[in-house]
Amino acid sequence: MARMYYDADANLDLLADRTVAIIGYGSQGHAHALNLKDSGINVVVGLYPGSKSRKQAEDAGLKVLSVADAASAADWIMILLPDEVQKTVYQEEIQPNLRDGKVLSFAHGFNIHFGQIVPPETVDVVMIAPKGPGHLVRRTYEQGEGVPCLFAVYQDASGQARDRAMAYAKGIGGTRAGILETSFREETETDLFGEQVVLCGGLSALIKSGFETLVAAGYQPELAYFECLHEVKLIVDLIVEGGLAKMRDSISNTAEYGDLTRGPRIVTDETRAEMKQILGEIQSGQFAREFVLENQSGKPGFTAMRRQEAEHPIEEVGKDLRAMFSWLKDN
Ligand code: NAD
Ligand code: MG
Ligand code: MG
Ligand code: MG
Ligand code: MG
Ligand code: MG
Repeated sequence: MARMYYDADANLDLLADRTVAIIGYGSQGHAHALNLKDSGINVVVGLYPGSKSRKQAEDAGLKVLSVADAASAADWIMILLPDEVQKTVYQEEIQPNLRDGKVLSFAHGFNIHFGQIVPPETVDVVMIAPKGPGHLVRRTYEQGEGVPCLFAVYQDASGQARDRAMAYAKGIGGTRAGILETSFREETETDLFGEQVVLCGGLSALIKSGFETLVAAGYQPELAYFECLHEVKLIVDLIVEGGLAKMRDSISNTAEYGDLTRGPRIVTDETRAEMKQILGEIQSGQFAREFVLENQSGKPGFTAMRRQEAEHPIEEVGKDLRAMFSWLKDN
């Protein structure tokens, strides 16, 4: 069993007299900045001129600087920008301010592992990757809990990189839930695989295909929406709480029998072969190259696919139905 580390294993004092620059104030950025600040650590936020997040960060009591000034002022630089913009911002604003002895950190290994960012040998390079979206990283911290994190050391210039990464994980609340050690390579490849094959790619393709099959057979789109999309959350909540066993315990015997006999006909040997091929594309850098080039060319395919997906009938039906569910509205 892999070792989990908790609060008692990490020493927050390693960050005590340091300034941490959080670059970017999006999903992860706002959560890291606020959690570290509430853990008593000196935080500055680095944003580009005209950023819409500036007011939000300042209203939360954070000091906001330009990316270059934040990187210059800080001992520790955490890059929480979208992966596809990190290279340019790093080269133009961070690298010139990356003096010896500083710590450069990430919440995902993409840019380091695929060689988009090549830091000098004189800095520590570490990763603290919460295994959950930023709003949960913040909300659980406020509740006295935390989101489990992965941590990794890519480069240990100080001899303290690993202890420092664990201290940071403690500062954002990660060690309350438990943190697990990994490498940049392992985190990058498993993260990409999980989101492409299961969590995002696999799940949305499954939902859409089920919906399309029912609608094409003449069933009401509203029912198809409920059966193939809405109920996913109820099932997933049970799986997360108690594994597949708890979910199967809770569903009817009819549903359980259908699960066991029909599920394997949906994910077949052909599907598994495709999963292996997708993993190969991740490992070889083929996916990374495609994503980098797509962004460099102004995202033509990405933009077209986003538009097509937004026009899918499941989104139209969903919008109308959700507007009718008072219990789903934001409170
Ligand atoms: P995000 O898209 O939510 O936020 C990015 C921030 O960067 C925003 O504040 C945006 O204003 C700013 N930004 C965008 N373009 C910029 C530019 N050109 N110059 C300067 N600033 C710019 O990003 P995120 O989802 O929080 O992801 C940040 C990192 O965390 C990524 O490495 C991602 O892989 C990793 N990560 C994200 C999650 C998640 O749940 N979102 C989970 C784990 C790890
Ligand atoms: Mg997004
Ligand atoms: Mg992930
Ligand atoms: Mg990811
Ligand atoms: Mg049902
Ligand atoms: Mg049952």
